[in-house]
Amino acid sequence: MESLPNFSLLRPRSIAEAVAARAGAGEIRFLAGGTDLLPALRHGLMQASTLIDLSNVAELRGITSDREGVRIGAGTTIQELSAHPLVARDYPAVAEAAVAIAGPTHRAVGTVGGNLCVDTRCRFYNQSEPWRTANNFCMKLAGDICRVAPKADRCYAAYSGDLAPALIAHAAIAEIIGPAGLRHAPLAEIFTDDGIVYLTLAPGELLVSVRLPAAPGWRSGYEKIRTRGAIDFPLVGVAVALRCENGKLRELRVVVTGTDSCPLSIVGLDDLCALPLDEALTRLDKLVRKQVGPMETTLAPATYRRRVVPVLARRLINRLLPGVPA
Ligand code: SF4
Repeated sequence: MESLPNFSLLRPRSIAEAVAARAGAGEIRFLAGGTDLLPALRHGLMQASTLIDLSNVAELRGITSDREGVRIGAGTTIQELSAHPLVARDYPAVAEAAVAIAGPTHRAVGTVGGNLCVDTRCRFYNQSEPWRTANNFCMKLAGDICRVAPKADRCYAAYSGDLAPALIAHAAIAEIIGPAGLRHAPLAEIFTDDGIVYLTLAPGELLVSVRLPAAPGWRSGYEKIRTRGAIDFPLVGVAVALRCENGKLRELRVVVTGTDSCPLSIVGLDDLCALPLDEALTRLDKLVRKQVGPMETTLAPATYRRRVVPVLARRLINRLLPGVPA
C-alpha cells in the first residue's frame, strides 16, 4: 500500500476563511469527508501541498426548508441526508441515491459536496502507482494517450456520483462561492462532459449548498447497478422524476450517471408525455440508448451498461406509476 504523502492541514471555521485559504500558493485542495480524496492522494492520482479541512465550517452543514424548498449544505454528511424525513418524503430519489452510496462508514463521513464533486473514474486510472507505471499511464494523468479510445483527444472517464442525477432530476440549483463572490447555477451546469476537466467550477470556487425547489405532485426514485451490492460506485445509475395530473403523465425527467463523463439529462422527453404509456416507454428506450455514451471504462462492457440504462428507467417509471407494464 502506498503511503499518504506529507501535506499541511488548515482548519478554517468559516466559508470566508476557507475561500481565502484556497487562494494561497501551492497545490491546495478542499478536504471534506476525504473518502475519495485521501485514497487518491495515497495512490498518487492527485497531489496536494495543503489540504483545507472543511469539517469545522458549520455554515456548510445542515438541511433547512421553507416554502420555496430545501437547502442542503455541501458539508452535510450522506448519512444525515439519507435519514432526513423531509428529503425522504418530498425528494425520494435523493434519499434513495444517498443510501445507495458506498457503505455505512463512508456515508457517516462522506459529504454531499464531496459526492457531487467526486473525480471521474476509469479502470485504467483508478489503479495503484506501480500498475499505472507498468502500463505507461494514460492521458488523464501523466500519459499521452487514452487506453480506452487511443485515437481520442479527450478522456472518457465516467462520472459516477450517485447524488447528482437525483438532485438534477429535482431541478437543483448549486450555490457556489469563490474569489469573485457568490453565484448560483443549475446543478447540471457545474459538470462538463470531459473526464479530466469534469467540473466547471473556477479555481478557488467552493460548492456551498444545493437548493431543491418545492416539489408538490412530483414522484421520484433512483436505482443503480454495481459490482458489489454493498459498497460500489454505480456502473450505471438512473434517477427519474415525474409529475402526473388527472392520472396522466405531464412531466418526465431522466438523469443518468456512470455512463458519460458528466451526469446526463435525457432530452426529448416532453413529447413522450402525450403518448400512451406503453408507447412512451418504447420511445424512451430508444432515446436513452441513443443518448448515453458508455465507453470501456469499467470491467462491465459498455454494451451491457447501455442496455441497462433504459431497463432501470423503465423499472423506475413502473414503480412510480403503478399499473404501467415494466
Ligand atoms: Fe485514461 Fe482514457 Fe480512461 Fe481517461 S478514459 S482515464 S484517458 S484510459
